[in-house]
Amino acid sequence: MKILTADYIYTPEGFISDHAVAFTNTIEDIGTKETLEKKYPDAEVIEAEANSVLYPGFINTHVHLEFSANKTSLKYGSFMPWLDTVIEHREDLVGCCDNAMMLHECEEMMKSGITTFGAISSFGNELEVCEKAPQRVVFFNELIGSNAQYADMLYGDFLERVKASQSCEAESFVTPAIAIHSPYSVHPIILQKAVTLAKQKQLPLCAHFLESQAEREWLEHGEGELKGFFEKYFNTSTPVTNIEEFMLAFDTYPTHFTHAVQTTKKELAHLAEKGHSVAHCPRSNRYLGCGRLAIEELHALDIPYSVATDGLSSNDSLNIFDELRAAVMLHHQAPIQLLAKKLLKTVTSDAADILGLNCGRIERGKLADFAVVTLREAPKREEEIALWTVLHTKEVSALYINGEKYV
Ligand SMILES: [Zn+2]
Repeated sequence: MKILTADYIYTPEGFISDHAVAFTNTIEDIGTKETLEKKYPDAEVIEAEANSVLYPGFINTHVHLEFSANKTSLKYGSFMPWLDTVIEHREDLVGCCDNAMMLHECEEMMKSGITTFGAISSFGNELEVCEKAPQRVVFFNELIGSNAQYADMLYGDFLERVKASQSCEAESFVTPAIAIHSPYSVHPIILQKAVTLAKQKQLPLCAHFLESQAEREWLEHGEGELKGFFEKYFNTSTPVTNIEEFMLAFDTYPTHFTHAVQTTKKELAHLAEKGHSVAHCPRSNRYLGCGRLAIEELHALDIPYSVATDGLSSNDSLNIFDELRAAVMLHHQAPIQLLAKKLLKTVTSDAADILGLNCGRIERGKLADFAVVTLREAPKREEEIALWTVLHTKEVSALYINGEKYV
């Protein structure tokens, strides 16, 4: 048993001061330091630095590790030119992204307090790294394939990858999961098979959805910048599905929709009604010129959402605090204190609920994943702790996963 004390603890009930947490690999107890020391006399007592806040470990629900090599190869500013450069440099980027590079990015995530991440995997290359990484990983095997001719083969390959991730579930912190690449790139027949599989096996499910204006135009009218792309690379000028058909395919199983920037109010209302959630990637959306997700509409409809970094294919770091600060700037109209509080929830308890994980809250019985944030000075007003945490933190001062210290 270990006892960890901090000036403040972030709990589902708000920040509490002068408390401590007793834990093994799960949280056993929460109380004052004196009470816990008396109750667990053999426990190792660890005192966080002054002005520290104890948070549950942060959760980054959406990252593409295989693109970790990108620095200046991909073109930013607009979605289609970016996608063209992905096609152009994909082989080089994925080819030179070895395990050491991906492991380095897992360590970078840990420095910012990320104890769990959702890895979107196109080829399964990241599985070995995700097994080795200290973090909990929801391993999203991605399904892609819009051409009916090759759909069965691609689905077969996808099933193999799902199996491989299932086989390492017992000996690692890997949770097998399913990702649908996007409405424009997955044939409705294999889409339906994958959704059914997720539902049968109760695997977390995610899908990129309405990220760009180009995607919307293509799905709605078969026009726009994606038309040229499909003519050039796939010899087709008709989309395989439309927005409604794609969205309805997920009606019976809660899904984590990534981006959703170009959704209408009506579509968002449908997502809300069916119990879906959204992964919000503010920097990725900004860098690819996709626009701003109207989080105030998600708030109004009570749609749960996570804030996530996306991959280095559309970002400059996998640091969750860099992402939260970007969200503060992007949503400039939102009351800043309330927004900071909400953002911390999106990367802790909300993200855990979305991925179906028993972490993300400092509460008895939850997994002992912690991030210790040390503020520069004692907060003068308690209602500002969330904002100071978001604005001042580059790296956490300690990090625990499953009760073990890693930072
Ligand atoms: Zn993505």
